[in-house]
Formats: sequence, C-alpha cells, structure tokens
Amino acid sequence: MTTESALVEAGHSYLYPNYRQPPFVFVRGQGSSLFDASGKRYLDLYAGIAVSTLGHAHPKLTAAIAAQAGKLLHVSNYFFNEPNVRLAEKLCRLTQMDRAFFCNSGTEAIEATLKLARRHFHVQGQTERQRIIAFRNSFHGRTLGALAATGQDKYKDGFGPLPGVTHVAFGDLSAVRAAMGPDVAGILVEPVQGEGGVLPAPPGFLRELRDLASSAGALLLADEVQTGVGRTGKFLAFQHDGVEPDVVALAKALGGGVPIGAMVCKKFLQEALPPGSHGSTFGGNPLASAAALAVLDVLENDGLLAQVAERGAELSLLLSKTASKYPKLVECARGRGLLQAIVLREGVDARKVMTSLQESGVLLTIAGGQALRFSPPLIVTSAELEEGVALLDRALSAYA
Ligand SMILES: *Cc1c(COP(=O)(O)O)cnc(C)c1O
Repeated sequence: MTTESALVEAGHSYLYPNYRQPPFVFVRGQGSSLFDASGKRYLDLYAGIAVSTLGHAHPKLTAAIAAQAGKLLHVSNYFFNEPNVRLAEKLCRLTQMDRAFFCNSGTEAIEATLKLARRHFHVQGQTERQRIIAFRNSFHGRTLGALAATGQDKYKDGFGPLPGVTHVAFGDLSAVRAAMGPDVAGILVEPVQGEGGVLPAPPGFLRELRDLASSAGALLLADEVQTGVGRTGKFLAFQHDGVEPDVVALAKALGGGVPIGAMVCKKFLQEALPPGSHGSTFGGNPLASAAALAVLDVLENDGLLAQVAERGAELSLLLSKTASKYPKLVECARGRGLLQAIVLREGVDARKVMTSLQESGVLLTIAGGQALRFSPPLIVTSAELEEGVALLDRALSAYA
C-alpha cells in the first residue's frame, strides 16, 4: 500500500507544478462529503469548482455510468450514439435552443462559440464582422481564443499577443454601446462573473445587451459554463431575466464530474459550421452523454431546481449575517442561488482564511482575489450549509 505521504511526495515530484495542492489525497466521497486517505472528512462546499452537481457517489449517476461503461464507451462523431442524441434533444429543450455541439470542457465550449460567431458572419458574406466584445474581470477559459476573451491580465501574462477582443467594464452599458461597430460579431457575457469574484450582472443588464446585440446585428453569446445546469436555481442563469441569448456555452456541472462541454445555439446559426469546419474526437461520447443525461434527469425529476432556489436563499441569508458580524474583515456577501461568496476586505488574507477552513474540514475556493466562493453540490442540505458557515464564522473570529 502506498502511504498518503509517499503519494504526496510523488505528486510534487512528477506532476507539472502549475497548482498548489495541500498535503493530503482524497480517496472517496459521499454526498457533500469527501474523505482523505487518513479517513478525515471534509465538507465539500465547492464541488470540484461547481462540477459535482449531484455530490459524490450519487446512486443514479453511478449506475448510469456503470451501465454505459459496460455497453459502449466511444464511437466518435462519425456515427450517432443513443445517449448523445437523447442528450442533445433534452438540452435543447431545457435551454430553449435548437442545436447542440458537444466537446469536453468549458474552454472548448467557448472556443466553439467564438468560432461559430465568426464563421456565421463569414458565411453570410460579412467577412469584416469578427470582433468580440467581452467584459473586464471575466473568465472564459485557457485556450488562446478563450483566453483572448478573458478580461483578467493575471491569466494572460506572457501568452500574448491575443486577437480580436474589446473589453469593457462589466455592467457599463454605455461602454458597450461605444465599443459596438459594424465589425462586431458578438457580445460574450457571464450572467454571474464566477472566477472574477461571484459578481451578478446588474439588474436589466442582460436584457439591454440582448437589445443592443439585436439592433446592431451582432450575436449575444452566453458563457454559462459556471452558472448553467441549475447552479443559480434556474437551468440557465439567463432565464431569471427572461432573456434568450443566441448561443450558450455549458460544461462544469453538466456531467456531474465526467468531463463534457456543450455549445447550444439557435436554428439560424446551424449553417455556420458545416461538416469538416469544427469537431472533437471525444465530444459527446456515450459515457459522458449518459452521465449528463442522469444529471439532467435528477435535476428535472427529483425537484432539484426548486431545492437549489431554497438552499440558495438560506445560504445568502447566512452569509449576510456573517458579513454584518465581521464588518472589519468582510466587505459584503453576494451571489445567486448556490453560487455565493463572502467578499473579504482588501488586506485580509483570503488564502489564510481558506486554508484554516480547510484544516477545520470545510472546502471553499477563492475567486477574484478576495471572494470566498461557495459552489456546493446542488444536493447540499440546510444542515451542511449551516455547518460550513458556522466554521467560517469560527475561522473569521480567529483571524489575526
Ligand atoms: C471554468 C470556466 C470556463 C472554462 O472551463 P474549463 O472546463 O476549465 O475549460 C469558462 N468559462 C467560465 C465562466 C468558467 O467558469
């Protein structure tokens, strides 16, 4: 048996050192709990960065994956496979879209979105329309196209020059209006900036972007990689505003932990990417599709969406109370549904608070430098949220 410390040592020796993992190894999970090799339990309130929709070892997801693994894993997109066709149909219905393209990650879903937008206008003979408008503080992924759209220098340092994106302040409608022009293919926006620090779009902003894009003949592109699949209490966060984008990028929560991404779009965009123009070897494979189908099934048929709205309201209340209890340390609490954060004041060491929480057995992530982000499994219970916030309270009271 390899001991935990030997594994940690091997991890530090052989894995590429672009992350900073703490010195323990997770070996299993159950619901909203994770267990390390020594048997210590951690309350998982980050869900592997908003991915583990149904928590860990959910019986319906586990059964769907096992059954599909015993039947068919992969055939490539040269052929139809049943779980993928069913998933496409279901996803189109849930998002009010008409066509689904599958890939393996959020960054690939964004890449497909950007390529679709550009090529749509190319096919229409509007070859000059290739510029994208995106927002400062946004996060859209790590490939060069998605990185170009990302509005935070810390992700882009040393990778430039990057093409064709104008960044304006999030929420600033007149800045968007000023940046528009006949060369703009699309406006790319997160309804809640996730990595940027859990910043919901101001009320009415998404509607105004819709109107602006439509009147300028440009596309509205929604990055729902973090907010989609029920995270905010509706299937898409855009649905709170009753706004329909032209394209939606999804990933993270879609497979409940099995890698899958999707770009879904309106029918009028279906000629933009003809056969040969874009693709993915693994995209939409039967295994990932069966996992996503199981996730969507639980979301729809077990009343999970309504539950997210309730748990989200509870979490929001708990965090506002904590925020007002520690005014010297906490600037505010904000978020939507089960994507919430407590934002620490400049000068408060967020990493220190997060690490002390980790030692006490609660897992959160930092977003945008100062926000302690909650993105728990959607099956999280009221008691688990109370437990996590009580331990956060303790970590804040001990902060020196
Ligand atoms: C995580 C994220 C991405 C990138 O997804 P990956 O699966 O890490 O490639 C893109 N956009 C948003 C909003 C995200 O949160």
